[in-house]
Amino acid sequence: MPLLKIKKTARTAARLDLRRLILVLTICSALIPFANTFYAGYLVQRQQLIDTTLEGHYAYATKLAHSTDDFLQSALQQLGYSAKLMAGHMDDIHYLGEEATRLRLQTKSFNSVTVIDQTGYVLATSPETLQIAGKTLKSAGVTETLKARGPIISQPYMAVTDNFIIFVSQPIFSAQGKYLGAVGGSIYLKQESMLDTLLGSHFYQDGTYVFVVDKNKHIIYHPNNKRVGEQISNNDAINQVSRGESGKTPLINSQGIEMLAGYAVVPSTGWGIVAQRPKTATLAPLNALMRSVLYKTLPIALLMLLVIWWSARRIASPLRQLANGARDMDKPETAQNIQSVRSWYFESQELKKAMLRGFGLLHRNITKLREDVNTDPLTGLGNRRHLEAAITAFQAEKTPFAVVAIDIDHFKKINDSFGHDAGDEVLRQLGRQIREVSRVDDIPCRMGGEEFLLLLPMAPLHSAAQVAERLRVLVEETELATVGRITVSLGVAHWSDGNDIKAVFQQADAMLYAAKRGGRNRVEVVPAATVAL
Ligand code: GH3
Ligand code: MG
Ligand code: MG
Repeated sequence: MPLLKIKKTARTAARLDLRRLILVLTICSALIPFANTFYAGYLVQRQQLIDTTLEGHYAYATKLAHSTDDFLQSALQQLGYSAKLMAGHMDDIHYLGEEATRLRLQTKSFNSVTVIDQTGYVLATSPETLQIAGKTLKSAGVTETLKARGPIISQPYMAVTDNFIIFVSQPIFSAQGKYLGAVGGSIYLKQESMLDTLLGSHFYQDGTYVFVVDKNKHIIYHPNNKRVGEQISNNDAINQVSRGESGKTPLINSQGIEMLAGYAVVPSTGWGIVAQRPKTATLAPLNALMRSVLYKTLPIALLMLLVIWWSARRIASPLRQLANGARDMDKPETAQNIQSVRSWYFESQELKKAMLRGFGLLHRNITKLREDVNTDPLTGLGNRRHLEAAITAFQAEKTPFAVVAIDIDHFKKINDSFGHDAGDEVLRQLGRQIREVSRVDDIPCRMGGEEFLLLLPMAPLHSAAQVAERLRVLVEETELATVGRITVSLGVAHWSDGNDIKAVFQQADAMLYAAKRGGRNRVEVVPAATVAL
């Protein structure tokens, strides 16, 4: 079981080559910081955008709260001034009507203006189309006014005119301080009013909108008219503002939409002004920006990936080729392959050099070993193994050859008379002479002792006989330093395809002994008739 595990690991490791490693490493080290920077940039900008939007909305709501307050104060002042004028003309209905109209048309603060006496009886109204002159009003605004006998800004309520309104009024006192009634302006919440001018004209096209709630969380102004009058309960900004607090907060509105809201309280009324914008609308430009950044960086990133991929290949390529070479060290073409590796940087160059040196050394050693195995150490001629290999090759290729068996005459005597070393020198000398008489393709071998064989491929019997004779004469005529002259006896035979190879060597041997018997220092050639056997 553990063995299997090791095998598996080795295979996995082998699959991870240098090129892939460089590629993965470089891509990771390039992409991770890029992604990180990109993401961090996104988060920072997003937060900044949210903060800026919240801050902007808060400032905006505060500004609107002040403007609204200013407007209401100015409305009260206008009413106050008219109240003073009207005090002396409470029984002049015509005057009251004129003044009410002037107030309504000159200031445009109110949708309608009404003058009532201390019982709520309508003395004058503008516009007169309201048709409430001569009636006694009991509405919330009027009741509140009569009760307060001072300046008031009413809570929103439904008026007899079937309008959802706010009633702003000032009391009318006589010169003696007697309460005579009140002059009041109505702001129609569901129709175009001063509030629209004040709040609606600032309505942004980018999804930002402003709405106003009273203390009881009733909407008194909303760009969507239909929502005026609605009570809102689950909105954090409104909860805060109804407690009299101004501020900013992200929130989820009554429709379940994420909003960024700024809110502020109108001091004189306790109304809350909320400026808010959907978060998605706020972040939309950021998403577009990030997309555009991504698109702009993408070609460079792709180009960079291409460069990395190409570089990884270039760096890994020489090492990969060298690694392949190392795996196929036993193949002869490997040296050529290693030689052709373009090792363009230091490490690969050194590896290549080392491998070429190693390869050369290996092959020299192998060649030497191979030669040693087939060589007779004393004479440097081929040995019995070499002879056998040659015979096998001749047989396979059906190459006919002649065999010359050579034996030194009375060699024992030479040894006995001059010593073993002198005998060895004789053997070496004979080896040289055999080589001398033979051609390059001929195969001279020492079979052991003082017996030699010479194979002559493609040589006919008579040529071999001539070579043998030449050798015999050469040996006979050569004067050796220590031992003087020696002689050799030789037997010659011939093999061609179809003949028994063993029998041919026996024939050569038999011829050699025939030469010995015949008096030595002679060549015996197998009779031509027996060659065909
Ligand atoms: P013949 O003419 O009948 O061949 O006589 P010979 O003395 O050569 O006879 P034989 O073949 O019986 O003797 C071979 C001798 O060769 C025996 C041995 O002392 C000697 N010999 C064998 N191998 C070596 C060797 O490697 N070196 C030396 N110096 N002598 C060897
Ligand atoms: Mg012998
Ligand atoms: Mg001998």
